[in-house]
Formats: sequence, C-alpha cells, structure tokens
Amino acid sequence: MDGVLWNAWVWLDGRFGRGSVFLKGGAVERISPPGQMMEYGAIDCSGYHVFPGFTDAHVHLREPGFSEKETIGSGTAAAARGGFSSVCAMPNLDPVPDGPESLEVELALIREGARVRVLPFGALTRGQKGKELADLAGMAPFVAGFSDDGFGVQDAGMMREAMEEAARLQKVVAAHCEDSRYPAQDPQSEWRQLARDLELAAKTKVKYHACHLSCAQSVALMREAGRAGADATCETAPHYLLLDAGQVRDEGRFRMNPPIRAREDREALLEGLSDGTVGLVATDHAPHTEKEKAGGFHSAKNGVVGLETAFSLLYLHLVKPGLLPLARLVDAMSGAPNRRFGIPDGLAAGLPASLSVWDLAAEGPVDASLFLSRGRSTPFEGWQAGGRCLMTLAQGRVAFREGI
Ligand SMILES: [Zn+2]
Repeated sequence: MDGVLWNAWVWLDGRFGRGSVFLKGGAVERISPPGQMMEYGAIDCSGYHVFPGFTDAHVHLREPGFSEKETIGSGTAAAARGGFSSVCAMPNLDPVPDGPESLEVELALIREGARVRVLPFGALTRGQKGKELADLAGMAPFVAGFSDDGFGVQDAGMMREAMEEAARLQKVVAAHCEDSRYPAQDPQSEWRQLARDLELAAKTKVKYHACHLSCAQSVALMREAGRAGADATCETAPHYLLLDAGQVRDEGRFRMNPPIRAREDREALLEGLSDGTVGLVATDHAPHTEKEKAGGFHSAKNGVVGLETAFSLLYLHLVKPGLLPLARLVDAMSGAPNRRFGIPDGLAAGLPASLSVWDLAAEGPVDASLFLSRGRSTPFEGWQAGGRCLMTLAQGRVAFREGI
C-alpha cells in the first residue's frame, strides 16, 4: 500500500508520539511529525493509535486436514482483524509437517490463502508421536521452529535428541509441557516436564520456548532458568491472565489444555508478564466446530479461539486499570516473538509495513457471532473489550480494513 496515515499516535521506541506514517511500495518510508494540513489522499488517523503489527507465536490454522474447523484464509483474516501481521502455526495437521514433503503441502496452502505472514512450526517427532525424530534439517529453512504442540514429549532421551538437532540447526524448540503421568488438571503435569526440559535446554544449549504456561510453579522455574544457563523463553495466553477456576462454567467454551487454574496461578502469570519472566503473549487460537464444542465442559474438545480478542481484552482489563504497562503488552505481542522466532517485522522507516491502526476509545462486548474465524468458542463471550482494530497491514499489504 502507498499512502499516508495522517496525524496518529504512533508507537515508537516504547511509547506513543504524534506522527504521520508515510507508506511507499509496501514499506514505511518515514514517520514524521504531522503537518498542519492533511496530505492529499491521506487517511485521517486523528485520535487513533498505530501499533507495530502483532505477532502470535502460537495459533492453530487447521489446514491441511481440518478445514471444517478453520482454513488458512479464515484464520489469517481473524488474525488481521485482531491486529496481527504475523502468526506461527502449529503442526497438529494432516499430514503432520514432519519433513519437507509434508511441510510443502502446508506451505502451498499458505502461499495461496494467507492474508498475513504465516510461519509454520515443523513437528519435532514423526507424526507428532514422540518416538522418532522428524526431519528437522529438511524443514529448518522454512519454519519458525519445531514443536509437538498438543503433546508433551514423554521420553527424555527423545527430547534431548530433538534439542541437540535443533541446537545444531539454531532453531527454537517450542514445547507443550505435559507429563502424562499426571492428569492435566494437576499443575505438576506442566511444571514437572518444564523442569526436565529446562535442564535439557541448559545441557544442549538449544533455544527453548515453553508454550502456554498456566501455573505459578512454571513462572518460578522460568525465573530461575536463565541462572541455570538455559536460553529459555515462554508464553502465556490471555485466558490464563484473565480467568481463574472460579469463573469456569460447565460449557465447552471454557475447555482448553492446559486448563484455567487457580487465582494464585493467574496472579503469578501476570506478575511474570509484568517483570518480563513471561516474555510473550500468544493466543493458542484453537478453533473447533460448533458440534465439537457443544455438550458441556467434559465432552468438548480442548481449545478456544483468541486472535480477534487478545489485544482488546488485555488492553481493557489489564493495561487500562494499571495492572500491566502498555509497553510490556506491546513487546509481548510484537517485539518479543519477533526476536525469538527471527521474524523481521517492526514499525520503523525502511521496513515492510506491518502495523495496525486502533481506535482505543471504542468499547463493546465480545460477540463471537461476528468473528471472521470459523471457530466461535470463546470464554470471553459478552465481556467488554477495549479498542477496535480499524486496519492491519501485513508486510505492506492491507490485510484488514474496516471503519477507516
Ligand atoms: Zn496449541
């Protein structure tokens, strides 16, 4: 896109300053103080806020294999509506991307249907079965990293082998920590495997990333990890930051893995996010069909959607009341994932335009029936959300635009 976003509050170096964003050839040409007069053909952004495009390091786009739940097209439309210009897609697909050929099936669909940048994760093990190493070297040039998301790798020897190979390739291992000796409801299922992984990560020197952390013990382990010599980062999701077990009802839309835990866990995650121990916020956007989420908590599949509500919920419920600095949230949703996964997005002159324009004064209830995602299952139905995304540019292209 060429043009000018005139007279906005632009997020630069960790704070807002008034400016106009000049776009040329799909890149940010310059950001300069707004003139008195609006440039011809410019988009009036007076009163609006321009953020770097967000990056979600953990989404499920369900293609290939499960297009009844979501497609690359619908999932990336939802991402753009939430202000995301890049997403990293998990490999629990059919075929599972566990080598260059199966990965190519997914890459072809991305080339065809993605509205924003989609960087896939390759599987860590063949078929995500935890028994045999996937072809990491064959996939390395095309992926954000490697993950068996959805399953914990139970065998420590297998995990060590995977980490050694990923370290050699200088790629991230993103781990779904779940020790199957414990029920998912027990926080030990998460933190015991995280503790094992952090030890292995320190030994193998791999870039290790823990997915969707949900409990206080995990935050404490992450706080110690750097001291023990591990190159470790982690993410949590909006539902672990905003909900605790007391709010969970017997409905499928509260069912995800790991589950919503106790109030102390939520508070520890927020503290970790505030002090940087928890570096990333990712949605774990995991759409299912209506039927799969119907019939109460226990019969529903694990997973809720999150791309279209993540920023606006966290902004209204954490940033506005002063519980989380805005700069922490913006870094957790853009700078931190970009640095970790080597994604060259950012809001600065000379870079491809990846940004989102928000009306932060707009407030309204979450209404899943309006989602662009095929998944409609959210624990936040009816919650107030603050801020409305008006436009998202992804690597220079308009991925979403409404009301501006
Ligand atoms: Zn996931």
